[in-house]
Amino acid sequence: MPRKKQPRRCGCGCGQMTQGGEFCPGHDAKVLSAIISRVGGVANLRLLVEQTTERPLIIDIKS
Ligand SMILES: [Zn+2]
Repeated sequence: MPRKKQPRRCGCGCGQMTQGGEFCPGHDAKVLSAIISRVGGVANLRLLVEQTTERPLIIDIKS
């Protein structure tokens, strides 16, 4: 049985309701770019994530 999609407040903080996902369409990308901007780039974000999770990120370029 498919789970019923429950509208909820968008995770970006805009106050709109979603169609059942975490974000309204495109708003997750806005959050991601704000995060990347705050930490000063993707490389810094990677460092932050690796330090926080205490695990190196393994990047598979081929897939
Ligand atoms: Zn939003």
